[in-house]
Amino acid sequence: MMKIRSGAVIVGLCAGWALGVGQWGQVLGAEEKLRVLIVDGQNNHNWRAMTPPMKAELEGSGRFTVDVATTPGPRAKPSAWDAFHPDFARYDVVLSNYNGEPWPAEVRKALEDYVANGGGLAIIHAANNAFPDWPAFNEMIGLGWRSRDFGDRLTVDESGQVVRTPKGQGPSSGHGAPHAFKVVVRNPNHPITRGMPTEWMHAKDELYHGQRGPAAHLEILATAYSAKDKGGTGSHEPMIWVIPYGKGRVFTTVMGHVMGSETTAIRCPGFRTVMLRGTEWAATGRVTIPIPEDFPVSH
Ligand code: ZN
Repeated sequence: MMKIRSGAVIVGLCAGWALGVGQWGQVLGAEEKLRVLIVDGQNNHNWRAMTPPMKAELEGSGRFTVDVATTPGPRAKPSAWDAFHPDFARYDVVLSNYNGEPWPAEVRKALEDYVANGGGLAIIHAANNAFPDWPAFNEMIGLGWRSRDFGDRLTVDESGQVVRTPKGQGPSSGHGAPHAFKVVVRNPNHPITRGMPTEWMHAKDELYHGQRGPAAHLEILATAYSAKDKGGTGSHEPMIWVIPYGKGRVFTTVMGHVMGSETTAIRCPGFRTVMLRGTEWAATGRVTIPIPEDFPVSH
């Protein structure tokens, strides 16, 4: 059922990377800007090639101001971590571009308290691979890159119903070779997805499958079909989801793979819009950022 567009067409659809243009500033000028903290510093992906364009995109929307907190690198001395104590409470939303070593216990606790007290958390791609041994983080993200024995899996069947596969059954987390794929909106009434085409073509990206976790209170907003001939599962896998945590909100998209200098996935207007709207929703529970005119179409 999936028709995959040629790469050439997708490049054409997704070429417009509006760095700092502020194209929505006029619309949003009356709103107080939301404060975003991006956390990076370790990732099996090229986080250095991700944070600057994501920061520019957020700032360019006119809706956000952005600071960046960068952790010590891998295998740093414990004393190096003493300098990493972000003041999460100063921000409306924390965006994680981090997939690396565990944070110090007090930083983990600070993030838990921050979200529980009403803060927002936005998780991009491999940021959901992080912290398998941090129970509250697993609750917040719902599903992460884990083995099949770690927790349940959620998919959506052909009738649109969510299917829960118990831990131990079905695939572990994985992905096939990167390719362009169609994203299907499953809840068109959520603030993040309202007004989006029901189906839209994402640029070449990794299509995550078999994500695992407690998956409690999780609402799937969009899925993509993981085709077996692309190394996938033959199931509709969650691409965008949200979870309440205490008084706070957590938004996850597993799209956004960047390795080396290949930034196609995060340059797609579809990804950029999902990131902006998801981050705004995590911060406030509502969305004012519009769907741009260059948002991808379905074929
Ligand atoms: Zn990736």
